[in-house]
Amino acid sequence: MIDLHSHTNESDGTFTPGELVDLAMERGVEALAISDHDTFAGFDQALPLAQSRGLELVCGIELSTRVPGTRVRTVHLLGYFLHQPPAAEFRKWLDELIEGRRDRNQRLITSLRERGVDIDLREVEKLGRTLTGRPHFARVLIQKGYVSSFDEAFRNYLGESAPSYVERFAPYVVEAIQRVVDAGGLPVLAHPIRLGFRDYDAEEKFIGELRDAGLRGIEVFHSDHRPADMARYAGIASKYNLAVSGGSDFHGEVKPQISLGTGYNGNLNIPKSVLEGLRAVQG
Ligand code: AMP
Ligand code: FE
Ligand code: FE
Ligand code: ZN
Repeated sequence: MIDLHSHTNESDGTFTPGELVDLAMERGVEALAISDHDTFAGFDQALPLAQSRGLELVCGIELSTRVPGTRVRTVHLLGYFLHQPPAAEFRKWLDELIEGRRDRNQRLITSLRERGVDIDLREVEKLGRTLTGRPHFARVLIQKGYVSSFDEAFRNYLGESAPSYVERFAPYVVEAIQRVVDAGGLPVLAHPIRLGFRDYDAEEKFIGELRDAGLRGIEVFHSDHRPADMARYAGIASKYNLAVSGGSDFHGEVKPQISLGTGYNGNLNIPKSVLEGLRAVQG
């Protein structure tokens, strides 16, 4: 069993890189990808630990991107670096994305304060390490009693439909795909279910367009996917000649219902051949 989608506390997970390596060993995960949002800091720290413990660790990244002129609000793109470490230029670009978060976070604080939420950026940043994201804001809103759950934090304050919502800079998906490729990585569509299509023909067409833009793989196995979704995405992968990928999207305590390796209610058991398949398409 392998898991190619996980987050450490360097982005919005709660496990340190070392704790995540330990957990993977404990749970019998044979290969683990750390795919933090916008940073390799978690992977970099975990690598020597994984090597000393004999865990195969895959370098990954997850990027939030946008698609102008469509109803899709955001596309999460995974990049896997299977044969070589990411190019230095790409790391510099990630620093710019993190800078864009800082700017958004300041505007979000202003917006929340205007709505009577007594919150300070420093207390949110205390929870984050390399970067501070909305999940960190959610934790502060819960701690301070403004909401009682993550869902409520996003519904009332942080989500796209909340009045206090503010946008952050996000690259176009086409640019992000190209940047991953240029950096020596394999671009893979994360959790396609979250694109939010109800019309499956439109969904398939959209994924076909990403494929034309250079997408090479699709996350067929994911905690949010029901068996019927997995079957549908496997069909799309085969039709468009996209590599199949999969992972739990483990975030630790902030998403306690999701287990490393086995996903949501044990809905995942991803064979090692999936990783070999990704390696093969990248050649
Ligand atoms: P950010 O990148 O800082 O804008 O935060 C985005 C992250 O917030 C995503 O990766 C999710 O982990 C989380 N998130 C976004 N929308 C929701 C939601 N409605 N409920 C819970 N978590 C969410
Ligand atoms: Fe996340
Ligand atoms: Fe995601
Ligand atoms: Zn993720």
